[in-house]
Amino acid sequence: MPAPIVESLSVQTVLVPINPPHRTASGLVEKSPLVLIDLHCSGGLTGHAIVFTYTPAALKATAELVLGLQALIVGQSLAPRAINDFLQAKTRLIGSQGMVGTVIAGIDMAAWDALARFQETSVCGLLGGRPVAVPAYAGTGYDGELETARQAEAWVKKGYKGVKAKIGYPTAAEDLAVIKAMRSAVGPDVELMVDYNQSLQAVDAIRRLQQLDDEGLLWIEEPVLAHDYVNTARIKDALKTPVQSGENWWGPADMQLALTADASDFVMPDVMKIGGVTGWMKAVDLAAAAGKQVSSHLWPELSAQLLAVGSTSHQLEYVDWWAEILEEPLRVENGVTVLPEDLQGSGMTWNSDKVDQYRV
Ligand SMILES: [Mg+2]
Repeated sequence: MPAPIVESLSVQTVLVPINPPHRTASGLVEKSPLVLIDLHCSGGLTGHAIVFTYTPAALKATAELVLGLQALIVGQSLAPRAINDFLQAKTRLIGSQGMVGTVIAGIDMAAWDALARFQETSVCGLLGGRPVAVPAYAGTGYDGELETARQAEAWVKKGYKGVKAKIGYPTAAEDLAVIKAMRSAVGPDVELMVDYNQSLQAVDAIRRLQQLDDEGLLWIEEPVLAHDYVNTARIKDALKTPVQSGENWWGPADMQLALTADASDFVMPDVMKIGGVTGWMKAVDLAAAAGKQVSSHLWPELSAQLLAVGSTSHQLEYVDWWAEILEEPLRVENGVTVLPEDLQGSGMTWNSDKVDQYRV
């Protein structure tokens, strides 16, 4: 059977409400602005992907950039890695970070989805893996001691064995109080993680974080600016608690810089910012060679499959922000992912009623 040919790209833009809104030390996230990409190929084959623009202000421009890149790939055979390499080469002068990077990653994810569907298998099957279960943890927002503890307890009652809280309050004492409240709510056997969303100043991060170092946390995430590899490495070396980073690294090249600086104990690339499935596969090879366990960021449906393939996979970050617009959101039972054996592609197809409801 000849390989399908890319015929066109189409986009839909939606604002999906997050209930309740997600509070972080770096601001409130009330809605997810998403560009839904459909990559249409010969034979009626279509691949789907989500680009998350973080701000609604970037929604229209991102959608237009997808359509702008369309002309470059129409007529090419459906070869996701080759298409990604081609688009990287075509955007070398503007640079393939930021919006350009998110759009190339979106096209890449849609291409892998389409190719897997063409082969009548899942993305993890296409990559030579099996849809095995991986541990999944849930998250709470930057919601203060009582509410954070309440949310953590609710997740544990649903079977989760790990919960991550957003912290980075004005003082270390407040951060510590939130952690202690969570611990007393969930007991000693649940893994707890904390996420600063890059909010600490490098000058006093070590002094602050040493006050959390006896809490048995699984990790401390993004304590300072994500690209400040030197100070993240200093923090990591000063703490017993592992440091986690990666969701803001652009492409495998950033991952390589962070690994060279030995900036974190664990890594958690974001499948979009790391460059789609193609970028992810390159990044996890780097991580494996450096002996780092890999967790995911957002995109639970696709990330569950990518972690199922990996040899050093650690934890899936479970979020349900986009579940409403999907026909079959990821299932998590007893704290692990559940992927159906007959999974097709990335597992993501649009719930068209909800897409219409939230369309911009
Ligand atoms: Mg984070």
